[in-house]
Amino acid sequence: MKSDVEIAQAAKMKPIEEIASKIGLVPDDLELYGKYKAKVTLDAWQRVKDRPNGKLILCTAINPTPAGEGKTTTSVGLADALSRRGRKAAAALREPSMGPCFGMKGGAAGGGYAQVVPMEDINLHFTGDFHAITTAHNLLAAIIDNHIQQGNALDLDVRRITWKRVLDLNDRALRHVVIGMGGKAHGVPRETGFDITVASEMMAILCLSRDLMDMKERLGRIVIGYTRSGRAVRADELGATGALTLLFKDAIKPNLVQTLEGTPVFIHGGPFANIAHGCNSIMATKFALKFADVVVTEAGFGADLGAEKFLDIKCRFAGISPDAVVIVATVRALKMHGGLSKKELEKVDMTALKKGMANLAKHIENVQKFGLPAVVAVNAFPTDTSEELDFVRRECEALGAEVALSEVWAKGGEGGEALAEKVEAALQKKADFRYIYDEKETIPEKIGKIAREIYGAAGVDFTKEAQRELEELEALGFDKMPVCMAKTQYSLSDDAALLGRPEGFRITVRELRLAAGAGFVVALTGSILTMPGLPKHPAAMDMDITEDGRITGLF
Ligand code: ADP
Ligand code: MG
Repeated sequence: MKSDVEIAQAAKMKPIEEIASKIGLVPDDLELYGKYKAKVTLDAWQRVKDRPNGKLILCTAINPTPAGEGKTTTSVGLADALSRRGRKAAAALREPSMGPCFGMKGGAAGGGYAQVVPMEDINLHFTGDFHAITTAHNLLAAIIDNHIQQGNALDLDVRRITWKRVLDLNDRALRHVVIGMGGKAHGVPRETGFDITVASEMMAILCLSRDLMDMKERLGRIVIGYTRSGRAVRADELGATGALTLLFKDAIKPNLVQTLEGTPVFIHGGPFANIAHGCNSIMATKFALKFADVVVTEAGFGADLGAEKFLDIKCRFAGISPDAVVIVATVRALKMHGGLSKKELEKVDMTALKKGMANLAKHIENVQKFGLPAVVAVNAFPTDTSEELDFVRRECEALGAEVALSEVWAKGGEGGEALAEKVEAALQKKADFRYIYDEKETIPEKIGKIAREIYGAAGVDFTKEAQRELEELEALGFDKMPVCMAKTQYSLSDDAALLGRPEGFRITVRELRLAAGAGFVVALTGSILTMPGLPKHPAAMDMDITEDGRITGLF
């Protein structure tokens, strides 16, 4: 089997105008970034904004394990399969971050024969959107520190500035830093830190904005910290809103690329699923829905975290909802949920497989709670046996769920036709979408509903610190927004070690963080790192480029 980058490099890409024309985008709608990448103009939006939307398919998964689930791979392969079946299909996906790219091996543009190309470009710099976010984020930080240096007219409390700096790399040494050292001319010393760019609130804002003017309003609303008397200070009070917005004039336009089989793919925005809502931009999804008849999109992590945030946050802000949900499961991951260790996954163990099915069953139930038709995609790995695959199919049928084998990793779109057929049937059903909570409820009520209904928890506890933050948010009037849960993706609970379908557990909220510009309150359970570190042997050490420009070692 060839590596992902070898398969991608062997592909014969088509000019992006040709790909765009498949969904009715004309050359005037595109701003070309070379031959195979383009941004779609905002004028194109004006032309199509009153058209009816195409159908939306959300691709999510069971709780991930180190075995890997393959949501992106399945999304890409399903879009290709729908194209093969004569549908005007597209996918809407996230932009990868360079941090994990140089850290852990693992692609972010699909895998095997279900990939988006040019994968080297998509994984490295792409069209510069992340640079725009990094620059705008750090411009605001520079303006804050300059404001303090120039006399601090707003009386900012230098110990309570929540706006940090960002960089699109994994660099743990920057998590906690002291700035402003060197004497009076070099700034006011204070403690701060760096987050990875994808964890920036501006990334969440880019993804949740309806247009540039909506984005401008949200940027101005960002709370950067507090005064010494405890008042929340907005970015707008520093006079920075205009400059911040203009840095996004191109980044706000969705990017268009293609799959190995020539299906159009919108790739735009990539918020950290740990701390933000974790899906591509509203703009890209909406563009895709206006131009294509059927759109496949992905939400990060498992369905308890990624799909819940997609449905309760993104759909609420965008005024859209999926027509069907695909839940990706693998035999390997189900066996891990049934108690096997990572080393034992190659062996057939029907008892573990049966036990692990409980995790999938809970996610199927959850999708039904949102009122949406679900289809399970069993992502076939080369090591799976037919006994195991048949068993998972029968168990899903016994649960009343639609299920199909997906072989897109090995075969591309052809391997996704069975799944596409089930998904098309699900699209005929009437979805009756509902949110899990009302945003006007109190924060404890909202978190309580997510924890009990979606995670299956017995209840929620707030630490003393979180209780204090809750009271402050309520007093400042910031509590009537959706809640963005930050939780381990590995378990339905907030304990990464509790696999399968745990019961009777309680969720502990340790911290509440305000993202006033993005428009949500982040509830942190457990400790979530917003600046990752590199592993002992970073993937960067195996990468290279040859004299003729061929890239090696990039997945
Ligand atoms: P996710 O979006 O759920 O994080 P990806 O689709 O990015 O997962 O896949 C993660 C990794 O697993 C990729 O490197 C991909 O090539 C690999 N992978 C996915 N599906 C399969 C499969 N059926 N067989 C072998 N490898 C796979
Ligand atoms: Mg993915």
